Amino acid sequence: MPAKPHLNIVLVGHVDHGKSTIFGRLLYDTGAIRPEELEELRKAALEYKIEGGEFAYIVDQLKEERARGMTIDISHRPFETQKYYFTIIDAPGHRDFVKNMITGASQADGAILVVSARPGEGVQEQTKEHSFLIKVLGINQVVVAISKMDLANYSEAVFNKLVEETKNLLRPLGYNVDNIKFIPTAAQHGDNIVKRSDKMPWYKGPTLVEALDTFEIPKRPVDKPLRIPVQDVYSITGVGTVPVGKVESGIVKVGDVVIFEPPGLTGEVKSIEMHHQAMPQAGPGDNIGLNVKGISRQDIRRGDVIGHPSNPPTVAKEFIAQIVVLNHPTVIAKGYTPVIHCHTATVACRLEEIIVQIDSRTGQVIKEHPEFIKNGDVAKVRFVPTKPLVIEKQSEFPALARFAIRDMGQTVAAGVCIDVVKAK
Ligand code: GDP
Repeated sequence: MPAKPHLNIVLVGHVDHGKSTIFGRLLYDTGAIRPEELEELRKAALEYKIEGGEFAYIVDQLKEERARGMTIDISHRPFETQKYYFTIIDAPGHRDFVKNMITGASQADGAILVVSARPGEGVQEQTKEHSFLIKVLGINQVVVAISKMDLANYSEAVFNKLVEETKNLLRPLGYNVDNIKFIPTAAQHGDNIVKRSDKMPWYKGPTLVEALDTFEIPKRPVDKPLRIPVQDVYSITGVGTVPVGKVESGIVKVGDVVIFEPPGLTGEVKSIEMHHQAMPQAGPGDNIGLNVKGISRQDIRRGDVIGHPSNPPTVAKEFIAQIVVLNHPTVIAKGYTPVIHCHTATVACRLEEIIVQIDSRTGQVIKEHPEFIKNGDVAKVRFVPTKPLVIEKQSEFPALARFAIRDMGQTVAAGVCIDVVKAK
C-alpha cells in the first residue's frame, strides 16, 4: 500500500470561536492521541484543575501559556483520515502566526475557517482578517466549520444565516463559494468533526474530516524556473561552500551552473545533499545543501536566492504590493520604513507611495492616494528596498512574493508583491 499523502492545514478564525477545541477533537476522535498519552494528559489536567479533564487539557495545551510546561507536544501532531495525513501547522494566536505563514516557516495547502454560532459571535473582525490573509497567501482550499452549534440549539436557521454571511465575506475575496463546504459542528461534544452528529438530522453534508478529504494535493511547481532562497551558508572543510535552503520551484542538478542574487555571482553545483544523502537532483519542497564551486562563504548570505543564469531571481529596484494592515498602533504613511520579511530575506523597505486604498470585501478602489492607512485597511503600495532584495511577482513565484511587514517586534502588516521594477 502506498503511503497516504501528507497535507498541511491552518486553522483560522476569530479568537475564542473554537479553533483549539476543533483541533483537540480532531486528534482525539481520529486516534492521533494514544491511550497512554490520554492518561498522562488526564493527570496533567487534574494537576492544573482543568474542568473537563483530559480533553480540555488537549485544548489548553494549544494555548501558549500552557505550551511551555507540557510533556507531550501535540501542536504538530498529524492525524489520519481516509485519504490523508494532516498536520495543523500553525494557528493564529500562536506567536507570530502571520510571519510564520508568510516567510514559509509554515506552508499551508488548505485552511479550516472557524465561525462560531454562539449568539453574539458569528462573522467578526478576525474572521475577515484571516479570510483575507489566507487568500493573500494563496491558500485556495478552504472548509468552513460553523462551531458551537450546541449553543445555537443546533438550529438549521442559524446555520444557514451564518453560511450566507460567510459566503458574502469570501465571495469578494475571489473564493468560489459554491465549492466550499460548510459544516455545522460542536467540537466540545464531537458533533460532525469525525463522528456524524445525531443532533442535526437536517444536515446531510460531510463531517469535517470528510470535507478535508475533498482537498486536492497541490501541484508542485517542478516546471517553473529554479528558485532556492538561502537559509544559511556553511563552509565545510574538505567540501567547500555549502548554502542550504528549500527548493521553492524548479529543478537543480549536479553539474548545473547557478547564480546567486542579489550578489550576481555564479558557480557550479558539485553535489547536492538532503538528510545527509547525496542526490543527483532536487525539486520543489526538498530541503537541500549544495556544494557550489567558485563561490566563497563570504560572498553569499541568508536571503540570497539561487536560480539559473538563464532566468535569474529578480532583484527589485522597487515593487508594487497589495498589503493589509493587521496590527499597527497608529497609522502608516509615505516614508514609513519597516523591515520586510520575504522568503528568507529581511530588508528594510521605504513606503514611497500609497497608490490606492481597496475595499477588501469588494476589491473596489475606495480612495486614490490616501494620506495614510490604518488597521484593517487594504492598499496597493509602492516600496523601495534600502538594500538589494530578491522579490518576485505573485503570478510567477507565489512563495517569493508574499511578505510580512515587521516593526517594533511585531507583524504590523502582510502583503504580496504584484509587480517588480528590476534593478538590473
Ligand atoms: P480558539 O480561541 O478559537 O482556539 O477557541 P477555543 O477552542 O479555545 O474555544 C473558546 C471557548 O469556546 C472555550 O471556552 C471553549 O470551551 C468554548 N467552545 C469551543 N467549542 C465549543 C463547542 O463546540 N461548544 C461549546 N458549548 N463551547 C465551545
